[in-house]
Amino acid sequence: MDYYGKQMSKLIEQLSSLPGIGAKTAQRLAFHIIRMPKENVEQLAGAMLDARNNVRYCRECCTLTDQEVCPICSSPARDKRMIMVVENTRDLAAYERIGKYEGVYHVLHGAISPMLGIGPSDIRLKELVQRLQGDVSEVIIATNSSLEGETTALYISKLIKPTGVKVSRIASGVPVGGDLEYIDEVTLLRALEGRIEL
Ligand code: ZN
Repeated sequence: MDYYGKQMSKLIEQLSSLPGIGAKTAQRLAFHIIRMPKENVEQLAGAMLDARNNVRYCRECCTLTDQEVCPICSSPARDKRMIMVVENTRDLAAYERIGKYEGVYHVLHGAISPMLGIGPSDIRLKELVQRLQGDVSEVIIATNSSLEGETTALYISKLIKPTGVKVSRIASGVPVGGDLEYIDEVTLLRALEGRIEL
């Protein structure tokens, strides 16, 4: 039954299609939105559209950016010979918050998971291999310490070893199953500094 009228029901339906948003939260958000000042709603809708239209993958590291090459890859201060492989842009952001890493990144956008049917060709591995044809001295694998993250790390190390490029894995100070973005900066820095060559 349509308690709220068509427009309101449509808004609730759209909101509840987002990940992590159940029917109750969608209702709460919808009621919040209709009480917001019109210009704030316009800003919110505009930000969504702008992000969707302009955000793309960096040509070099595959992170999300609104330029062809992201600010990290285009910065002359960053060491292009050191590549840290992370699962997603949120993990990259976690390392950037420490502000101690001077290399560049490679964002996989996922991890290998046989259980979920995600194979090596479903994440941005091909792009990583292509980058290794350039001048690279070290690849630091900073995937999560979950089963998927470890599977991915193992796969990458086997892939890179024959090329002679140094491969290392961040130290296991990172709690098992822990998502990198939730780990505090000290732990993250320790994990990076204590990385082990594979
Ligand atoms: Zn980039």
